[in-house]
Amino acid sequence: MIERTLLIKGRLGLHARAAAKLVRVASGFQSQVGLRRLEGDVTVDAKSILSVLMLAASRGTELQAFADGVDEEAAMDAIEQLFAEEFGEGKPEVSAITETPQEIRFNGLGVSDGIVIGQVLRMDDATQRVYRWRVAAPDLDRERQRFRAAVSQASDQIVAIKQQAGERFGKEHAYIFDAHLLLLEDEKLIGDVEHLINTEHVNAEWALKVICDRFLYLYSEIKDDYLRERGSDIEDVMRRLLVALSGVQFETRGLSEDAVVVSQDLLPSAVAELDLAHTQALATDTGGWTSHTAILARGVGIPAVVGLRDFYRRTRTGDRIIVDSTRNLVILHPSSATIERYQAEATTRASRPGPTDLKPQGPVHTQDGVEVLLRANVEVPSEFSAVATYGASGVGLYRSEFLLVRRGGLVSEDEQRVAYEAVAKVAGDHGAVIRLFDLGGDNLRAQFQEPEKNSALGLRAIRFALANEAVMREQVRAILRAAASGLLKIVLPMVADVSDVRRAQAIIEDEANHLREAGVRFAAVNIGAMIEVPSAVLMASRIAQIVDFFELGTNDLVQYTLAVDRGNDEVADWFRTLHPAVLHSIDQSLKAGRQAGIPVIVCGEMASTPAYVVLLIGLGATDLSMTPSAIPRVRRAIAGIDTENARRIAMDCLNCDTAEEVEGLVRDRLTERWPELFDSSNLPAPGKVRTVSSTNSDPAD
Ligand code: PEP
Ligand code: MG
Repeated sequence: MIERTLLIKGRLGLHARAAAKLVRVASGFQSQVGLRRLEGDVTVDAKSILSVLMLAASRGTELQAFADGVDEEAAMDAIEQLFAEEFGEGKPEVSAITETPQEIRFNGLGVSDGIVIGQVLRMDDATQRVYRWRVAAPDLDRERQRFRAAVSQASDQIVAIKQQAGERFGKEHAYIFDAHLLLLEDEKLIGDVEHLINTEHVNAEWALKVICDRFLYLYSEIKDDYLRERGSDIEDVMRRLLVALSGVQFETRGLSEDAVVVSQDLLPSAVAELDLAHTQALATDTGGWTSHTAILARGVGIPAVVGLRDFYRRTRTGDRIIVDSTRNLVILHPSSATIERYQAEATTRASRPGPTDLKPQGPVHTQDGVEVLLRANVEVPSEFSAVATYGASGVGLYRSEFLLVRRGGLVSEDEQRVAYEAVAKVAGDHGAVIRLFDLGGDNLRAQFQEPEKNSALGLRAIRFALANEAVMREQVRAILRAAASGLLKIVLPMVADVSDVRRAQAIIEDEANHLREAGVRFAAVNIGAMIEVPSAVLMASRIAQIVDFFELGTNDLVQYTLAVDRGNDEVADWFRTLHPAVLHSIDQSLKAGRQAGIPVIVCGEMASTPAYVVLLIGLGATDLSMTPSAIPRVRRAIAGIDTENARRIAMDCLNCDTAEEVEGLVRDRLTERWPELFDSSNLPAPGKVRTVSSTNSDPAD
């Protein structure tokens, strides 16, 4: 075996591209080739990219390279040469980096309208990578102190978040943070981590992960459902501590005024946790128009561009950035000319009357007098006031699973009752439709179940409820009790057939009987079915016989009809809301509802988009539920159209063969018939699945 000491000279260190070169060169030899980082005593196989990257070797790091085998000499020479040449990307590129960064534009998908000029705040999920390294005996004390400092930083954050949570999500959700604070003070948890650091000579991250995993295992064995769920609190606290240990600053109070949160992926729970007062926009590598993160961003009014693919890794916290979701665009390191043009546009926009200037309340009528109800979809209390602001006829969809967001676990029956009473109150006389927890899929799965291989087709929504009956029964009791003080209805998410509905109805009836027998105050509620999977569409006329109303979930209907993951930007071009198959499914479901004489609420993002709404009206929909801020533009469109023309256009769309044909037809016919309402800015763009936006002209062009 031969060994040589090599130095990383390149400014970027042993980054991914350099590591890939190294692995290719090392793999060309028969000998075993390895690298050892002297500091930290980490040894890795030089033929494995993952291992090499784990070295986390930055500029100036000294590495011990070694080769052992028949061609060890040649292997060592080749590796040494690669280091000497700085992996073939020496001077020119290095010097370019020191210059003012060039403006770069990234195209994604604007999912929540708005333009923001701000600074990048990278949001890193530090729990993804926990490495083990050896801590030398003299450094153990420092390592324990590092851990203590992280604990204290995490505690400070939680105290601040607790305060905000009370205001934004209601006081009843703030107390969860007491549990997190207690965990941080728990000598068992803290003591065990320190003990492991001491005895095993390991880094704090590793010790924390090992100890938390042990506790999580113990919790997973507990028979009591509620106690078992407390395991998620440990996970939450562990995540926070790992972030603190990583040195990544995600100090909510310290966010700059113009922070644009940039991340690879953002779970809905993470969006709900953001300090909305200081988060100006979101930009993520993954996601789609109907992903729950996008829905929430629209709900709380933060501009967002998703599906930016390779964007996150190119950013640094503090970089200048422009998020222009109306043009599906993010600009990194914008030039001063670009910033000026955007600033000018912002001023012009501000002086234009916006949709919020339109304040009528209640239903809207088409030109030929057909009444259409406009309801609100809501997820979190910060959206509640919008129900009244935009004149919604109650809450057409309350995505109750967001109640659990801040808990990372279940919420007690009483707390749920209080939350549902609050929704009923904001909904008023038109009432609120409470959807049973739609857990699974991209929705908060992390907190509740092991990742499933095919989560969209897995234990999601009503399946989760039926498989976790105790959870469902508790929620049903809370809704029935809350219904005694306001008009509430229950909708069953993602039912596949009559059987799912019957099983759920039996449980609801059973719980109503228990409450009656126990003399608890409650009220019976109407029960509806969400029609959002193809089997439910095909069986819609049968399902309609046994429910009080339908709710069409067009987001999932597109996803499942076309077999396109709604959160996967790789297949975003196949997510065609205007696909004839989707329109036929909507048509069939609306007809089934009409024939059975039950109301059909169309929710999902399709109902928020004026051009699509024309088709919905044409197919006979008269009850829509949408993001509250979309109500003014939908109201304006409906007030300007007549059902006869809408029907003709919708029928012609049903006769099309492809999504492109429907999109073309919609563009031509809507601009021809109602030029004052539709132009290229709010119609589907040719060859794109993009959302309609308010303008297309680029001030930076
Ligand atoms: C839908 O699927 O259209 C819907 C309204 O529900 P969600 O988007 O929450 O799945
Ligand atoms: Mg759905």
